[in-house]
Amino acid sequence: MVISMRLHATRPEIDGVCERVQDFGYRVHSIVGEERVVIGIVGTGDVTACLESVEAMPGVEKAVRISAPYKFVSKEFKPEKSLIRVNGLDIGGDEFIMMAGPCSVESEKQIMETAEAVAKAGAQILRGGAFKPRTSPYDFQGMELEGLKLLRKAKEATGLAIITEVMSDRDVELVADYADILQIGARNMQNFSLLKTLGKCGRPVLLKRGMSSTVKELLMSAEYVTAHGNPNVILCERGIRTFETVTRNTCDIAAVAALNELTHLPVILDPSHATGKRSLVPPLSRAGVAIGADGLIVEVHPCPSKAVSDGAQSLDIPQFEAMMIELKPYIQLWKTARMTEAVAAV
Ligand code: PEP
Ligand code: MN
Repeated sequence: MVISMRLHATRPEIDGVCERVQDFGYRVHSIVGEERVVIGIVGTGDVTACLESVEAMPGVEKAVRISAPYKFVSKEFKPEKSLIRVNGLDIGGDEFIMMAGPCSVESEKQIMETAEAVAKAGAQILRGGAFKPRTSPYDFQGMELEGLKLLRKAKEATGLAIITEVMSDRDVELVADYADILQIGARNMQNFSLLKTLGKCGRPVLLKRGMSSTVKELLMSAEYVTAHGNPNVILCERGIRTFETVTRNTCDIAAVAALNELTHLPVILDPSHATGKRSLVPPLSRAGVAIGADGLIVEVHPCPSKAVSDGAQSLDIPQFEAMMIELKPYIQLWKTARMTEAVAAV
């Protein structure tokens, strides 16, 4: 069960609810968010009686019984889609979101050229890794602080919001200083200490599905971030590991639709890591729009053959421009579907 307190509920009101719940034999886990306090209830007892009793108490906005193991991120807790505000944009709203840019920030010239081109083609958010999770310790590990500074420069020049990866809880504060969205890579989806730190960081988080993780595990990881105080989580399907080798990963496209049924959090598709092949990025992007993703995150590089990471799956600039034009009619249909859903929800 989860109890959401009203905005500005008083301390005595909150304490009163906690005591009442404990009288019913439950344990209390309260989350003090920036705007309101939410109280999670764990344990066993007479749920119906507890719910009825608590609902009538002063300061309580709503009390909901939630059967899923993930509470705050479940549709049962919040049926309407969450809007995540980033740089004047509402992710999860009625605008399709395009995040684009190189796998790694490599130089000023590379990031500025890419940023200007993707902004002109219609992207709203620039991606680019400054801290890179690489399989080999001998591969390029990222420009780190220098890379973050270049991303800031690209934002100043283009107005694009910035998404970049943070790999360690030690770096959360630093990366949050430069990024509008903190990306958590597939390899860190279950780094619970990092997830807890993100709960306190005050920046939206894009959580990528682990390469061997189930949809439920992805949602449980999102629950970590929200349960520790940060409700602004965006989920990302980026392919999972299977026996198939024709693609780098196997895109679990149905996971996008499944997530839209299970959670109110926005869902983004990464067709680049899901396929590992640039020729497959446009068709998979179309599928992402059609299935109702809230946006895409796509790797783009001015010269993919020279990229220090993920060149084979990166579009060059003309290919990205062509894909943006090709996606237009699909995005138009996507908008119509969004409006129909919004009308149906009223
Ligand atoms: C990336 O976005 O460049 C990346 C490393 O992605 P993932 O964590 O999905 O492998
Ligand atoms: Mn990459």
